[in-house]
Amino acid sequence: MALPEVLARIEAAARRAGREPAEVRLVAVTKGRSLAEIERHVLRYGDFPLGENRIQEARPKIAAWPERTWHFIGPLQRNKVRYLRPFRLVHSVDSLRLAEALAARAAREGYRPRILLEVNVAREPQKHGFDPSGVEAAVRAVRGLEPLELRGLMTMAPLAEDPEEVRWVFRELAAMARHLGLAELSMGMSGDYEVAVEEGATLVRVGRALFEG
Ligand SMILES: *Cc1c(COP(=O)(O)O)cnc(C)c1O
Repeated sequence: MALPEVLARIEAAARRAGREPAEVRLVAVTKGRSLAEIERHVLRYGDFPLGENRIQEARPKIAAWPERTWHFIGPLQRNKVRYLRPFRLVHSVDSLRLAEALAARAAREGYRPRILLEVNVAREPQKHGFDPSGVEAAVRAVRGLEPLELRGLMTMAPLAEDPEEVRWVFRELAAMARHLGLAELSMGMSGDYEVAVEEGATLVRVGRALFEG
């Protein structure tokens, strides 16, 4: 599937749910892909934000294309927060200590990081993210952390044969965001983005589907 087909599917899913397709943005996940692959499979179709999940891999790519919009979507250690400045949005803030470290760094550098809190909705032991029971307290704490700009929530659904099996995960994250007055919902990957859009995703993080075929 190529990027235009993914966009068409996003649009169809939005319409099925009575949503405006323009409310949903595609983040092209470019981890593991070369610049040539990214040009061929993503950038020829438009200037989409590019999602990377490892700092070491992202740094040379950003250096090559500093004018692109980069999003950070991967797990992060606190001692790496100094590398986050080039990213327009950090999807994967998964602990208060990480949020505090980023806030301290950004305050010294004088910029406002835009962040999402990652929620482990399905409580999978191997996954990162806040436990659903702790999200409200985390949001309250992070809202007090200048100069962070908290924009919304992010989740990774469990792997599922049938994306209908994880619809509840997206629905639950959307309910949390609504309850907390947060606008951005980063949810949905190659296997489940259409269901995520039906449930309210504003950002879908799609990799594999853009580069296959
Ligand atoms: C790799 C990755 C994606 C994209 O997954 P695909 O299955 O390739 O679409 C989305 N989100 C995160 C956090 C990822 O690490």
